[in-house]
Amino acid sequence: MSKIDAGDAGDGAVPVRSGANREAVPRFVVDGMLGRLARWLRILGFDTVYIPPLAHALAEGYGAGLHGWRGRTLLTRNTALVRRWVPANCLLIECDRWDAQVRQVIHALDLEVSWQRCLTRCVRCNDLLEEVDPAVVRGIVPDYVFAVHVRFRCCPSCRRVYWPGTHRRGMLRGMERFLGPVVS
Ligand SMILES: [Zn+2]
Repeated sequence: MSKIDAGDAGDGAVPVRSGANREAVPRFVVDGMLGRLARWLRILGFDTVYIPPLAHALAEGYGAGLHGWRGRTLLTRNTALVRRWVPANCLLIECDRWDAQVRQVIHALDLEVSWQRCLTRCVRCNDLLEEVDPAVVRGIVPDYVFAVHVRFRCCPSCRRVYWPGTHRRGMLRGMERFLGPVVS
């Protein structure tokens, strides 16, 4: 039986930024040393594989190697790795700071960032969250959370439970670091 952990999530439907010239929503593979960037891309709802460190993993023949990730945009600080990737499908991350890195990805790839997409994925596993009946999480989430929320989502892989609002302020502050003030 899978363990279910209590987690938290923000929610809402206020658009933060709308990009132009968008086609399909990009998916990412993020190189090692960029773990915080990977985490934030997941928080923003983007399909993000994180493999630390990618260059070493490829040298070791990890998984399917490059082929399994060719459809994803590579985010790395490794110039040698960029040369091995499809040039149009990678971005060399220039900054040390995580917020500047997120900002660079958003602007360089013209990403659409919206509250509607935020926290639709498990921050740990990258899996899409699934709606669960509140009765399922009774006794798992804190009583005060169960008392005031009617909507819960669960990660199908790690069984962590998410609910709207708990860390919304903290997440807002984080997002404002690279998106500017949010109108709500
Ligand atoms: Zn998970």
